Amino acid sequence: MKEIDFHNWYVKKGRAFQLEDTPTLPSGKELAVQKEWLLEFNRIAEKLNRLQSTLHASKARGLLLVLQGMDASGKDGVIRSVFSHVSPLGARAEAFGVPSEEERHHDFLWRIHHKTPALGEIVIFNRSHYEDVLVPRVLGLIGKGTWEKRFRHIMNFESMLVDAGISVVKCYLHISNQEQKKRLQTRLDDPHKRWKLQASDFSDRKLWSKYLAAYQDAMTATSSAATPWYVVPADSKDYRDLFLARLLVHTLEKMHLVLPKPSFDLSSVDLK
Ligand code: AMP
Ligand code: MG
Repeated sequence: MKEIDFHNWYVKKGRAFQLEDTPTLPSGKELAVQKEWLLEFNRIAEKLNRLQSTLHASKARGLLLVLQGMDASGKDGVIRSVFSHVSPLGARAEAFGVPSEEERHHDFLWRIHHKTPALGEIVIFNRSHYEDVLVPRVLGLIGKGTWEKRFRHIMNFESMLVDAGISVVKCYLHISNQEQKKRLQTRLDDPHKRWKLQASDFSDRKLWSKYLAAYQDAMTATSSAATPWYVVPADSKDYRDLFLARLLVHTLEKMHLVLPKPSFDLSSVDLK
């Protein structure tokens, strides 16, 4: 199967683009190819499993995957798929909801920093510090001066994480407006899925283009070679999962991880 050229989906710093014109599905894929995505995911997930074990053993580096996207874009789904193939020893997911009163009384990175990965860990953020340049902006609670200052704080913060050995990869799960409608309808119809619904899902849907604009700005301002943003075509759950698994494998391979040497002389072992 063809490798994914991540460069095609990489957001270049400072270059404006239109999410509206960015595909939410890889183009020209017939059903036969779509079936391969799941098979390929299982194959690549085995590789991910091995790399994660090495990361955990080596304690040399850490990995932070930031997931952002509109409601029902599949953040929970990706986490479930990826985690079905890694050991919970050394992998963690952290979700960020509406800030609590205590959190609101601190700077916006306060609640984020202590959830970042330690060396040896993979951490996936289900929403993140980026919410603070999206929600309050779209709701008109902060002005341009504030969100631009926050972009700078975010870049400095992430660059500090990189200096501490943490690879930072950020993904926007890109679904179409129609696909969101379909998924929200499924949640309304399915009693097992209703619990996921929040009133804000429906009010935010009305602000779709304002959110797109805020995402575009945030991504072009804060993407860099060391802390890249990727727009992940996410209308197909199988393709989205495959993309993420491959991206994690790609990121871990670039770390050139090696297993630690045994802490004592193995030739001295007398195993009776
Ligand atoms: P969910 O991810 O579906 O559990 O929903 C969490 C909700 O919290 C979403 O509507 C987010 O937009 C909202 N949220 C998360 N972080 C923030 C933030 N910093 N400021 C305002 N709303 C936030
Ligand atoms: Mg929600």
